[in-house]
Amino acid sequence: MKVTIFGSGYVGLVTGTCFADAGNDVVCVDIDAERVAQLQRGEVPIYEPGLDEMLSFNQEEGRLRFTTNAAEGVHHGLFQFIAVGTPSDEDGSADLQHVLAVARTIGQHMDDYRVVVDKSTVPVGTADRVRAAVGEELAARGEQLEYDVVSNPEFLKEGAAIDDFVKPDRIIIGSDNPRTGELMKALYAPFNRSHDRLIAMDVRSAELTKYASNAMLATKISFMNELSNLAERLGADIEQVRVGMGSDPRIGYHFIYPGCGYGGSCFPKDVKALTHTAHEYGYQPELLEAVESVNARQKQVLVHRLHAHFGEDLGGRTFGLWGLAFKPNTDDMREAPSRVVMEALWEAGARVQAYDPEAMDEAERIYGNRQDLELCDNLYDAVEDADALIVCTEWQVFRSPDFERIRDALRQPVVFDGRNVYPPSMMEALGFTYYGMGRGESI
Ligand code: NAD
Repeated sequence: MKVTIFGSGYVGLVTGTCFADAGNDVVCVDIDAERVAQLQRGEVPIYEPGLDEMLSFNQEEGRLRFTTNAAEGVHHGLFQFIAVGTPSDEDGSADLQHVLAVARTIGQHMDDYRVVVDKSTVPVGTADRVRAAVGEELAARGEQLEYDVVSNPEFLKEGAAIDDFVKPDRIIIGSDNPRTGELMKALYAPFNRSHDRLIAMDVRSAELTKYASNAMLATKISFMNELSNLAERLGADIEQVRVGMGSDPRIGYHFIYPGCGYGGSCFPKDVKALTHTAHEYGYQPELLEAVESVNARQKQVLVHRLHAHFGEDLGGRTFGLWGLAFKPNTDDMREAPSRVVMEALWEAGARVQAYDPEAMDEAERIYGNRQDLELCDNLYDAVEDADALIVCTEWQVFRSPDFERIRDALRQPVVFDGRNVYPPSMMEALGFTYYGMGRGESI
């Protein structure tokens, strides 16, 4: 089948590559000329495990092409996927300018029936706006072509995106027309083989399902972080509580890890957008508001703890920081807790020596001009002559480092573990002053 994907970011690239890998003929369109040039050379501008090889293979086979030419993209695909960014606007609402720009482009260039598929995360009612935008452009050209608009939200996780796409838990198809439902089913058939994972529903329900899912996941994290703060004050260990809680199958072990807050390109903006939608419809979403504010507070916990240990003025201090990405196995630093911690440390006069297995280029792009940040080549350089080690992301490589080397490199053997990577008793036995999250008595 012929497929066009607008937007070559985390979602667009994975979607396009996986459809091509199933034998489809895919064109990816992006307005970022530099990104497209990179992709045309076979260079993948993001870190996503397995994507490099899969993308190059399909590109070499001629099933996957990249262009800035929107008209070419619209002429190519029966399916026109919109996978562009929907960042938070200043008021917390989802900024739909890119989505609607693509819709207008499709209306300007289409010359035959098209299925317009909204894969970006968008508020309920956006499909109507996309439909209207395409229709207005067609009317302006005096054309009367048929088209359908489908909501097909994406649930992939950065770091496991390919696996999630080819073996999805569910494929949500929101459509008000049985014809498009069947076409979408055929397109997704290669990823829907062992049992039917396709869930068909109306468009508005599909749009809401995506926000509902992310809001639920964010709620689980904020709930655990709330309890973690409480556990600390009560002299309980949240990690033992977590294990006890998760054993109830109604609760389960997934996604109940306490930490230094959620980040990334999705949870923060999606919780805010859903909250904004609720307000627009005159509803006070008290739980959603708390999820967001608990998270904002949680990102400050490490900062407060650092000040409690070292005092308010951190001038002359240096901190080793491990983990810049918002979670392991990605280079994405959008809304990452590491950024809140580093910015607070700089504000208090400290220097930071940071290391991340994949996000160093991204850190250079964001903070490259700062004199008070040193981006280190490996984890041990980051702790050399530092006053403490701060762990912000639970990369696997951080789990069993050479602790003696770390202790000898640090000016003082102090570890602030924002992800509960290390057992407190072991750290104490190794001679560290150790601060975890919600692990009994802490400051
Ligand atoms: P991204 O920022 O990585 O990529 C978006 C791309 O769209 C950029 O390359 C940008 O240049 C391009 N673009 C913008 N306007 C364009 C236009 N008019 N025509 C063509 N390209 C254009 O975004 P992302 O992380 O891939 O997210 C895309 C959407 O998918 C968002 O709505 C997001 O909420 C949703 N989503 C993201 C994830 C994730 O893990 N990143 C998961 C599920 C859903």
